[in-house]
Amino acid sequence: MTVEVAYCSYCGKSAEGDHEACARRLTVIDPPRYCAECARRMVVQVTPAGWSAKCSRHGEITSAR
Ligand SMILES: [Zn+2]
Ligand SMILES: [Zn+2]
Repeated sequence: MTVEVAYCSYCGKSAEGDHEACARRLTVIDPPRYCAECARRMVVQVTPAGWSAKCSRHGEITSAR
């Protein structure tokens, strides 16, 4: 599965470059803070089931996959 990612959803910078540390943070516990498509800051909520993060443009994503 390939997802078009323009920005790092952890630090909000261009997805080009080294984001190995960011990716590791995201895999472990941290919710993404920035939308991967537009780099807007997302509204993050931690829920009992995990987290949800909402981009005003691209909608909500959750940790449930
Ligand atoms: Zn990053
Ligand atoms: Zn977005």
